[in-house]
Amino acid sequence: SSVLSDRINAMQESQTIAMAKKARELAAQGVDVISLSFGEPDFQTPQYIKDAAKKALDDGFTFYTPVPGYPDLRQAICDKLQRDNQLDYKPENIVVSTGAKQALANAVLSLINPGDEVIVFAPYWVSYEEMVRLAEGTTVTLMGTLENDFKVTAQELEAAITPRTKLIMYSSPCNPTGSVFSREELAAIAEVVARYPQVHVLADEIYEYINFVGEHVSMAQFPAIKDRVITVNGFSKGYAMTGWRIGYLAARREIASACEKMQSQITSGTCSITQRAALAALQGGRSSADEMVAAYRRRRDLVLALCQDIPGFRTPTPSGAFYVFPDVSGYFGKTTPSGDVIGTASDLAMFMLNDGHVAAVDGAAFGAPNCMRFSTAAADEKLREAFIRIKNCLAKLQ
Ligand code: PLP
Repeated sequence: SSVLSDRINAMQESQTIAMAKKARELAAQGVDVISLSFGEPDFQTPQYIKDAAKKALDDGFTFYTPVPGYPDLRQAICDKLQRDNQLDYKPENIVVSTGAKQALANAVLSLINPGDEVIVFAPYWVSYEEMVRLAEGTTVTLMGTLENDFKVTAQELEAAITPRTKLIMYSSPCNPTGSVFSREELAAIAEVVARYPQVHVLADEIYEYINFVGEHVSMAQFPAIKDRVITVNGFSKGYAMTGWRIGYLAARREIASACEKMQSQITSGTCSITQRAALAALQGGRSSADEMVAAYRRRRDLVLALCQDIPGFRTPTPSGAFYVFPDVSGYFGKTTPSGDVIGTASDLAMFMLNDGHVAAVDGAAFGAPNCMRFSTAAADEKLREAFIRIKNCLAKLQ
């Protein structure tokens, strides 16, 4: 029997991280691998944010921080929510965490009892399901259709709600599909949620700024359910601050206080220097993000064109984030030159890595086993080279 807990033994390793690890191992053997597996901007954090971090050190911000974040940072987050999302919150509604990831985990662990059902819109971000499992909740995945850009509809949601449904989780813009819910779609979902008073919504808006259609709509904008919405956002994607580890949530007081309590026992307040840098990031507005978004849009167009040139890929047009998510099931059942049969997207991803030296992530990690996720957060030349390799290696499949 294992020395380890049932809890950790039941947990899956993050597939995106596992693929990046394999790619690094190949690279360490001297293979020139192009990794499109990671969800990380390839931009440096803007200089004015770095400068604020240096200043924070010089100003002596080296002590424990308040668990939910510095008061001026929480106020700046309220100002941001007001400015960008027309949402009215007070600092007491805000909990700053070590990444949006911790904000999500705090919320799930604070709301879910064993046996509670959590409806997760699929394709979903890899960690949602594991967080629910950790809380001993039951994940009910609700798969959007390719025809509807993988977006779950209000009707599909209503059919999945049971008396045990406690929470709905989704991201928009979505990782992995890049889909963005429109105001009408979210309004219809909010109308359904409004009819079930026990149901809460965890809205992951981390890709808010990386949006090619323009309007970002927050679920908390619908007054009938605002009190039952927990909005999660952060700095990793919009400000290219993945390594700094900071994110936040906004929720009604009762829930925010619970998340603060959870965090107080596990990590305390997030890094002092990072918080000062995040304050500067918000004060600088979103113009630095706009420059990055222009590059992401260009690369999306480039990669879409490259994908369309690959037989057997069915690729919806992403409206945001920095991924493309083609359906690759057309290759299932084909045979590699060494005689192996490609049974799954995972087999295909391994073949592409070993033969084409391109790393992507099997869609099963996101609840969509017919698909594969390619990150477009790489230089244009790298993306071009990657898809030449992919096309060439896939052409070897019989
Ligand atoms: N939510 C989604 C949908 C993500 O893709 C990510 C990062 O990949 C996160 C949350 C976590 O972000 P953070 O770096 O702020 O923890």
